[in-house]
Amino acid sequence: MGPGVHVLRTLADCHGLRADLDRVGDGRLVVVGGGFIGAEVASTARARGADVTVVEALPAPLSGLLGQQVAAELALLHADNGVRLLTGAQVASLVGEPSVTGVALTDGRVLPADAVVVGIGVRPDTGWLRTGSGIALDTDGGVLCDEYGAADAARTVYAVGDVARRYDPLLGRHLRVEHWTSAVGQADAVARSIAGPGPVAYEDDFFVWSDQYGGKITLLGRPGPDDEATVVRADAPRRRFAVAYRRGDRLAAVLTVNWPKALVVARRATAAPGAADDVVAAWKAL
Ligand SMILES: Cc1cc2nc3c(=O)[nH]c(=O)nc-3n(C[C@H](O)[C@H](O)[C@H](O)COP(=O)(O)OP(=O)(O)OC[C@H]3O[C@@H](n4cnc5c(N)ncnc54)[C@H](O)[C@@H]3O)c2cc1C
Repeated sequence: MGPGVHVLRTLADCHGLRADLDRVGDGRLVVVGGGFIGAEVASTARARGADVTVVEALPAPLSGLLGQQVAAELALLHADNGVRLLTGAQVASLVGEPSVTGVALTDGRVLPADAVVVGIGVRPDTGWLRTGSGIALDTDGGVLCDEYGAADAARTVYAVGDVARRYDPLLGRHLRVEHWTSAVGQADAVARSIAGPGPVAYEDDFFVWSDQYGGKITLLGRPGPDDEATVVRADAPRRRFAVAYRRGDRLAAVLTVNWPKALVVARRATAAPGAADDVVAAWKAL
């Protein structure tokens, strides 16, 4: 990576980016990838005065996770805060040698840039497990585990955190989750399995939060592709809404945007039938 091009993974990356944002000042920052990390970088850089453009390949950032309609509404936070969002846009190459001067898109456009942050995800670095370890890996390098996090039949090797593709009995499939809360919860359960009399399963509530533009976005649960999403919007000076994802008669997941009380209400709801209706009614009364 040449000067002016950043990823964000370590504390050193963070310090390097901060120093470069000081250099850029009110200049142009292009953020490649509009997921949680890209959006948080965009928000921080905008607050420091940069002219920010986010480039996102999907029709809306996080549309695979949240569904197109909800993701499109969430994406309006960028425009609300003076950040340009280009969707359905793919990067062909970076321009400039040795320092970056622009980002070329596959449609021929070139976005001028004084700095670039690339936030397009990571892959587990598990190549060293491929030969001779007896540990099965998924195509993306994730370690295939049972519901207890065990990676071998004898339960002598476990994986936790970003690297673990764990079987989720509720969803009926293997899942790799890149959330801090999941890493901690899985580690706790695996430690109990190793030290205790029997295996301990970890029930993930899939909770993630993201601080953007001075507000907070939370996602509790994991929306599914066939869930029905009900959006409740608060009457507030800045964008504030909550989404209940229904799966059959169950409340499967909840997204809140700049609305902490809506999360408190949702956390009290149970998985009982009708909970989605109760939560939506309670939000409307807030
Ligand atoms: C910029 C950023 C912001 C994030 N923000 C949030 C957030 O707001 N909320 C949230 O829930 N999650 C967030 N995440 C995700 C969260 O940080 C991860 O899900 C969590 O750190 C996973 O923990 P882990 O222990 O599995 O992996 P890591 O924290 O990545 O730790 C793995 C460690 O193993 C080391 N390692 C790797 N390979 C080897 C090897 N072969 N030998 C020895 N050591 C090795 C690595 O150097 C690293 O120190 C964020 C991630 C990033 C990068």
